[in-house]
Amino acid sequence: MKQPRGGEACPSRGVRAVGVCQRFGRRVKFAIRAGRVQGFLCTSAWWGWVYLGERVPGVVYCSMGKRIASGGAGVVRGPGPGRGQGSGDGGALFARGHLLQLAGLSAKELRAILGRARVFAGHDADGSDDPKAWRERLRGKVVANLFFEDSTRTRVSFAVAAERLGAQVINLTSVGSSISKGETVADTALNVAAMGVDGIVMRHKSSGAPHLVVRTLAERAHSYDDAGRVCSVINAGDGRHEHPTQGLLDIYTIAERFDRLDGFDLSGLTVGIVGDIASSRVARSGIVGLGALGAKVVCIGPPTLVPRSIEAMGCKTTHDLDGVIGKLDAVNVLRIQFERHDGGGGGGEKMPGASNAVASVREYYEVYGLNSARLAKLRPGAIVMHPGPINRGVEMSSEAADSGQSMVLRQVRHGVAVRMAVLEMCLNASAQGR
Ligand code: ASP
Repeated sequence: MKQPRGGEACPSRGVRAVGVCQRFGRRVKFAIRAGRVQGFLCTSAWWGWVYLGERVPGVVYCSMGKRIASGGAGVVRGPGPGRGQGSGDGGALFARGHLLQLAGLSAKELRAILGRARVFAGHDADGSDDPKAWRERLRGKVVANLFFEDSTRTRVSFAVAAERLGAQVINLTSVGSSISKGETVADTALNVAAMGVDGIVMRHKSSGAPHLVVRTLAERAHSYDDAGRVCSVINAGDGRHEHPTQGLLDIYTIAERFDRLDGFDLSGLTVGIVGDIASSRVARSGIVGLGALGAKVVCIGPPTLVPRSIEAMGCKTTHDLDGVIGKLDAVNVLRIQFERHDGGGGGGEKMPGASNAVASVREYYEVYGLNSARLAKLRPGAIVMHPGPINRGVEMSSEAADSGQSMVLRQVRHGVAVRMAVLEMCLNASAQGR
């Protein structure tokens, strides 16, 4: 199958290429002419804007569920997830003080963030950076935590990280703010930016929401800042799209355990991501970030949760956990994201088990749960990870979660160092005037 390339002229008739819709992980067919997507068809009959990876062919992004007329033109903009060669949107945005995704960051950019995190984690031996001076790094800056979706670890971790760097932290959640009165996310962000906030850390249930906020803040910069400065935006998880700081802290944890902190070269390592890949932003950040640094990634789970099409992001897929578990150096177990699934009846909060994609939680645990028997099949030295929150007895047993191989709390610990690095780099890029 021909793989599309952003900017490449293709014949205009018919369907010429296939990519993966980032929102749903489904295959999307489309044609390109003069570098623009001319028409596209998701196999689910979903129509929407598509974003085609400019640097890494074959990956298509749908925006926030906006429907347009069939055959309408989408905008070709890059990049898609890469294996280190990207320096398109992701890298450019990072240089301008935003971190919205790992896709598009080069291996060099990823290593720069991770290298700085190494200092904040206390793993840099040369002592050139005095921890007592860290509180000066962001002194006088204000970081707003805008969480439109629930969070424990990420929100607290960003707050701790910002405060360790001397910044002041404001916490805003949907409950208790005008978000519950119907204000749009863009309006909320504009108002927060108009108060002189330097950085917005945001989580939202819609994929692409932070991208929309960056665009809106840039378009309206002169109406809220005399110098037209755009405040930094850091994605703390957008729908099914990405969770870049989780991806970074997972990489850091693997690098620490396998003695790769010096250079963050993960070649030779195989990382399994087990579970609800289709709905997981953690998986997407992991696939692109780990791949960019040289690791092999295998996504494992039932066909309903692990679509083969995710391979377009540069990983392998299998539905046979027992067949592959002994070959993994790290196994990152994911929660089933019931709240993003259809089915199970009713609306509102989804309870475990309420899903068309998982017929029986008990059966899922039998086939894909990380239990003691599977723990015993891991290679010596292999590690177990989970981004949290863990549903014990659904995706992993308590023995696995609390075992000596479990890196779950190291991940949380490294999250603070990674977020210190990201906040420092983004907010200081902002200070230099993007
Ligand atoms: N905490 C992670 C996230 O926000 C994973 C999860 O919720 O299962 O994506």
